[in-house]
Amino acid sequence: MTARFFEHLQETLAQIEDDGLYKRERLIAGPQGGRIEIAEGERRRQVVNLCANNYLGLADHPDIVAAARAGLDEFGFGMASVRFICGAQTLHRALEQEIARYLGTDDAILFAACFDANGGVFEPLLGGEDAIISDTLNHASIIDGVRLSKAARYRFANGDMDELETRLKEADAAGARFKLIVTDGVFSMDGYLADLPSICALAERYGALVMVDDCHATGHLGQEGRGTPTLSGVGDRVQIITGTLGKSLGGAMGGFVAAPQPVIDLLRQRARPYLFSNSLAPAVAAGSLKAIAIARAADDRRSRLAAHTKRFRAGMEAAGFELLPGSTPIIPVMLHDARKAQDMAAALDARGVFVAGFFFPVVPKGKARIRTQMSAALTEADVDFAIDAFADAGHALRLV
Ligand SMILES: *Cc1c(COP(=O)(O)O)cnc(C)c1O
Repeated sequence: MTARFFEHLQETLAQIEDDGLYKRERLIAGPQGGRIEIAEGERRRQVVNLCANNYLGLADHPDIVAAARAGLDEFGFGMASVRFICGAQTLHRALEQEIARYLGTDDAILFAACFDANGGVFEPLLGGEDAIISDTLNHASIIDGVRLSKAARYRFANGDMDELETRLKEADAAGARFKLIVTDGVFSMDGYLADLPSICALAERYGALVMVDDCHATGHLGQEGRGTPTLSGVGDRVQIITGTLGKSLGGAMGGFVAAPQPVIDLLRQRARPYLFSNSLAPAVAAGSLKAIAIARAADDRRSRLAAHTKRFRAGMEAAGFELLPGSTPIIPVMLHDARKAQDMAAALDARGVFVAGFFFPVVPKGKARIRTQMSAALTEADVDFAIDAFADAGHALRLV
């Protein structure tokens, strides 16, 4: 019986391998950065890193490391408790208040990850009488969170405002009490921005709330890096923002919901991943607090990131690659075929460029790609090195 179970798992794993979908993790022998050391047994080799969410390049920032160390000294290693039992540290509350100030909301609540924030945000706020209307390309954690709520679920094709309107009408026709439109601020696989002005206009016309998951924007897009609502000029028309401390804002870990006071207060009472999971480690909270302070003032890093984005796009287009259009630091290089994406990733690896190939089921069939991400941690020379490596690998594989 148990032997058959483990055999069954081995067969599933073999199938994943046969389908060419097996994911292997590379090991990095040092901090995250623009150039990283890849560990292969005893061997170390340096590569230019185009696949981290380290947009502002803060993951190894000395002031953040120092702040984390000071947090460790002052507040210890861990909390060993959930907050409603043992309380939070002053540090956790300070971080919540700083996130709320940064994003311009009444308050914020911390979770162990944005995956948990999205997993816990819907169920306490909306019931069976309500409707959640979700973009089909929303992050997995939103999909899971929506599933955990009792609200009626509606989906609209990525960025399709006509379909969104149709779904709003359907929800009204079904007698929905409250309606919530939920979208990623930046869609991670394509780098597309959500059309927040249109979403907010439709929300207002149909009396719906708007929630934006801004994980791929907070810290680097919009004024002071306040994210897509600010970038799109709808900062005061989005009611709920979820985000992560694991990308631009230092890249450690932790997630949050920033929203009006009653939303935050109810989540503290009812959000299950908040109630039944440990508080963030003090060092992470202290480092993240410093990361927000640095991010707010980091116009230099934001301009470098934007300049790299332009430079890489121009260089790659000149080299003959097909890119998805866009302006965010997520730049997908389209190869369409899964095999080609894998071969290209391997050829780039051999040329000292670290990228990730994405193919079905992560992206639709026929839309395989190498997703590249720019970072302020890269130098201009790194960006040029990466373009040259792409051109060389592309020629070698006869893709350009
Ligand atoms: C990365 C990401 C998450 C998960 O964030 P974690 O803090 O790493 O759990 C959620 N939503 C979106 C859109 C993301 O890109």
